[in-house]
Amino acid sequence: MAFHAPGAAGLLAGMAASVLGIVVLVLPAFLVFYAAVVLIGAGLTRLRTGTLRLHVRLPWKPMVAVGLVLATGGAAVLASAGPAVGYQLMADRWAGCTIPYVVNLDRAPRNALSAIHEAARRTAAATGMRLVDDGVTATTVVDYVTMLKPGARITQRPVLVTFLPVPTFQLFERGKDAAAFALSIPERGSTKTVTGVIAVEARTSFARVGPLTLPAILEHEWGHIVGLGHNASPFEVMGTPMHLVSGFAHGDRAGLAHLGHEAGCIP
Ligand SMILES: [Zn+2]
Repeated sequence: MAFHAPGAAGLLAGMAASVLGIVVLVLPAFLVFYAAVVLIGAGLTRLRTGTLRLHVRLPWKPMVAVGLVLATGGAAVLASAGPAVGYQLMADRWAGCTIPYVVNLDRAPRNALSAIHEAARRTAAATGMRLVDDGVTATTVVDYVTMLKPGARITQRPVLVTFLPVPTFQLFERGKDAAAFALSIPERGSTKTVTGVIAVEARTSFARVGPLTLPAILEHEWGHIVGLGHNASPFEVMGTPMHLVSGFAHGDRAGLAHLGHEAGCIP
């Protein structure tokens, strides 16, 4: 669960990419859209009242939503066309090229299963690893955490994908505005991850607007499980404190390919 802070160079590169993205793509798009809404709004006002009033007030929340959607569009363009902004590696890596996973569907939203398989498929494609669906389980996060007790045996069980109620979630991510977390469990005294947990906070994960959808959240956590750390760019899935992309971008893919190559999963 330990995350690595990005280095100074990575941080600067990420910040530069973020600023560039906002200035070049997001800001003009947002201003154009805002102007259009104001003009249309003014037109509608005139139709209704016969007078031109330019003081059209837009509610704040839809503005934020529109901004996020436009930012996503800008980010997607930048992510597909821009240079790689790098990646950070964690100390722990997944051991091997096959990752079995099981899903506990308690408290899961509808259609969660297809989102989970989609995220696994994308992670497999980017790493060359095999993510194997081992079905639905009643196993809980507690069964995994007990393996971390001193002297307990760590076994190679499938990675558990689970949805936690807020109080349980906050035992792990207290005080942070997180939608999910990944718990990597390496063999004792080694950096080889042999199992782990991906836990999504059941209440908030789907109330969020924009691109922070379940597959992207899960991709972020799969990134941690295979050995990817955070980076500073919001245009990468591994970006923190938040990302604006709906799937792995340049830097993410470079990091995942690196891990796959190094482990011999990508020939
Ligand atoms: Zn993270």
